[in-house]
Amino acid sequence: KAKAEGRDCYRHFDLSMDATVKLRGTVEEDLRSALATGEGLALHYQPLVGTDGKMVGVEALLRWVHPEQGLLPPAQVIPIAEETGLIIPLGEWVLRESCAAAKRWPDLFVALNLSPVQFRTTGFAERVLEIIRETGVRPEQLELEVTEGVLIDDDELVRAGLAQLRAAGLRIALDDFGTGYSSLSYLRKFEVDKIKIDRSFVQHLGHTVDSAAIIHAVVTLGHAMGLTVTAEGVETGDQQRFLKLAGCNQMQGYLFSRPVPAGQITALVAQRCALRAA
Ligand code: C2E
Ligand code: MG
Ligand code: MG
Ligand code: MG
Repeated sequence: KAKAEGRDCYRHFDLSMDATVKLRGTVEEDLRSALATGEGLALHYQPLVGTDGKMVGVEALLRWVHPEQGLLPPAQVIPIAEETGLIIPLGEWVLRESCAAAKRWPDLFVALNLSPVQFRTTGFAERVLEIIRETGVRPEQLELEVTEGVLIDDDELVRAGLAQLRAAGLRIALDDFGTGYSSLSYLRKFEVDKIKIDRSFVQHLGHTVDSAAIIHAVVTLGHAMGLTVTAEGVETGDQQRFLKLAGCNQMQGYLFSRPVPAGQITALVAQRCALRAA
């Protein structure tokens, strides 16, 4: 598992305080020029599979190879982008890339992550719909992943934006479900299509009985509300079997595939076989 978390984290924890501050200072400038040229920015895609283990969609995940620091994980890039406002052009870049990916893979959906900062920008939903029209992608192929942070304030603005996007045919997924402090009340307040059970619950399966009970309850709740239920962070066959029996509709995790460059998804699409049968 430590190995699975990989190089990204290693680099992050390796930085001294001083280096961290310096990095933050140069990152804004470097990210700005990366956005201008597209250089060093990429999306990797992680498959989501159905109960038969076949790929049904992918989640787009940001990767940035910084000219000096090397690969920076999103956990390091996104907060800086949010603080500097660069999340707006970066978010649009992610959306355009995701639209292009969706057109390349007509049988898959493409899920992308949205920052709360994007959502709180006036005219956000219109802007998304404009880009979708420009790129000519079918809205049904796109899924927007939001976390509780998105929903926390400005209820009415956010609710209206989500409703507008859903009316246009996009799906909304609640990411990292169960980790925030008011996951349940959000289900009542905001109309969504999917719940993604946070990987912490999946990873505690077999270690704490509570995780199993929580997953069963979330699946039951989600299905009662007519939602699709996905589990993230699936790493073992035992977890896959449990989640399938529990009734999860989709799964995502290193067991099936890590996030990979677009070319590898195209190869998987051509193979058409289950990534891993339960
Ligand atoms: P997330 O949306 O919950 O994405 C899933 C994260 O879990 C990804 O990390 C993925 O690599 C990792 N993961 C997937 N399967 C497994 C597994 O089986 N085991 C383990 N240990 N990890 C797994 P990543 O790519 O580092 O992204 C971290 C977070 O950064 C994302 O969490 C998302 O919140 C944010 N993020 C990534 N790309 C974007 C983006 O384009 N825009 C915004 N606003 N946020 C992004
Ligand atoms: Mg996500
Ligand atoms: Mg997630
Ligand atoms: Mg998560």
